[in-house]
Amino acid sequence: MIERKFDNYFEQIKEVAAKKSGSSFSIENEFVPVMVNGECEVVMRLLPQPSTEAAPFVENRTHSFKGSDGKWHVVDCLRKSGSKCPICEWNSAVFKAFPKEKAKDICKKKAKRSFISNVYIVKNTAAPNTEGKVYRFKYGIQIMEKILAKMSDKEDPDKGFIKGVNVFDYYNGANLIFKAKDGNFGPNPEASYFGDAKPISDKNNVPLTDEEIKAIDDSLYTLKDCEKDTSNETFESVLNLYEKFVEGEKLFVRGKDAEGKTTYDPIIPGVAAGNTAALNDAVRSEFDVEEPDVRPTAEASEDFFDTLK
Ligand SMILES: [Zn+2]
Repeated sequence: MIERKFDNYFEQIKEVAAKKSGSSFSIENEFVPVMVNGECEVVMRLLPQPSTEAAPFVENRTHSFKGSDGKWHVVDCLRKSGSKCPICEWNSAVFKAFPKEKAKDICKKKAKRSFISNVYIVKNTAAPNTEGKVYRFKYGIQIMEKILAKMSDKEDPDKGFIKGVNVFDYYNGANLIFKAKDGNFGPNPEASYFGDAKPISDKNNVPLTDEEIKAIDDSLYTLKDCEKDTSNETFESVLNLYEKFVEGEKLFVRGKDAEGKTTYDPIIPGVAAGNTAALNDAVRSEFDVEEPDVRPTAEASEDFFDTLK
């Protein structure tokens, strides 16, 4: 029986988030669902990580924005590694300075989180040649939230206590019925869901043999290669990149503190530079300003790992 230790998954994932990966960002052998009439439905199984790696997924976070050339660009969000990110910090200052609705108009796009796992395609009517094969699969926070929900114990009003399922397990995991519809921002997978816990099977629901499972396990792709290395990036380098793409727009006034370290004071439209801190408090009490809307559940998934220990 091939098992990855579930108890330690989430402790390991936490560590992995802080680790550096040595290679550049690329996804080869990626599974991309075929959309037919704007829809797709694929039955897939999320797989454990290769035995040499610590977590069944890796994560990348980026901010996208329109540059002065009219094209979309991305910079890495540094918050994944626990560092301060200029885009997130600036957004946070905007949300402190203005009521929520106004702040939403002004702020930059919040970081997009994407995850990559190995998957086994169980059933894919639109592309049957992919069935029974292993791929890398990139998914967003919506699917990650469904993984979190499926993995968590819960109390159901009708069924009573429901034990969480380690969806990445060959024997006790569950199939992901990936359903997506074309939306304004690409395919929207909101209608996706996990089936009941059962062993990995073929499309006719025949459980795979131990030999077949071993063959899958031997063919797992490394995930580390898909995790973008941001270890050499800093607040200043990300900010520089942003300011290079968006000519003439400065997000921060740089200064020096008493020890000669660079300070960054956010430049907020309509707020004099240097006054943001004082103004923050004044405006905050006046409007009872809420914190940035950075998808509370997404942020909560940083505690994800704690909840599943
Ligand atoms: Zn950020």
